[in-house]
Amino acid sequence: SRRPLIAGNWKMNGLLADAIALAEGVAAKRKSQPDLACDMLVCPPFPLLGAVAAALAGSGVALGAQDCHAKVSGAHTGDTSPALLKDVGCSAVILGHSERRTDHAETDAQVKAKAAAAHAAGLLAIVCIGETLAQRDAGQTIEINKSQLKGSLPEGANADNTVIAYEPVWAIGTGRVATPEQAQEVHAAIRAELVKLIGESEAGKMRILYGGSMKPENAAQLIALPDVDGGLIGGAALKVEDFWAIARNC
Ligand code: 13P
Repeated sequence: SRRPLIAGNWKMNGLLADAIALAEGVAAKRKSQPDLACDMLVCPPFPLLGAVAAALAGSGVALGAQDCHAKVSGAHTGDTSPALLKDVGCSAVILGHSERRTDHAETDAQVKAKAAAAHAAGLLAIVCIGETLAQRDAGQTIEINKSQLKGSLPEGANADNTVIAYEPVWAIGTGRVATPEQAQEVHAAIRAELVKLIGESEAGKMRILYGGSMKPENAAQLIALPDVDGGLIGGAALKVEDFWAIARNC
């Protein structure tokens, strides 16, 4: 059985003091219940990684970033290498989030290259996919997710170095959460496609997170679905109580 991952994507929110308080709050909750049967991860903005790493030390809550470059180093102003992320305490990196696909025109091929680089640096790649509302309304949901998955997964992806996050774009930050039926349908289709791409054994072990308006009041139902292995949480990850209330469902 797959151990759930409860991951907070803080996006471009908070200043230094907010981040430290949030991380310390999450760390304290986790320390109060170290046996909770899930992994926890928080992904702050780049400049806050060091401070959050310190705040999380010894808590068992892991640290991740929200993007990385595909190259090891070099002339790439404003970018951050996976090796540096690892060096400052990250064990994971979110890649191909729909906001990056939109804001920075990231393609599947770029996400794939970044994921390969993350793997090479020893980071867990959290590869995000998901359809827009227009694509869902056009009946293209399964085909879009399959094609993004195929295009974004690098060679060598396995259950230890990769997590998939299904984030329907229409559910992100909208308060409009996928129904359990909608989520399970897509997660099952993703797993079926993973069987083709990486084989039955790894596909069976790989975690597929749901993301998009996951909140304390809807998380239990979603996390309980057979092919939902945790959540990638935006807004509700910015409050200690909400993030913890979601994790407590594991
Ligand atoms: P919300 O939980 O704010 O909808 O964001 C989801 C998300 O994009 C996580 O990566």
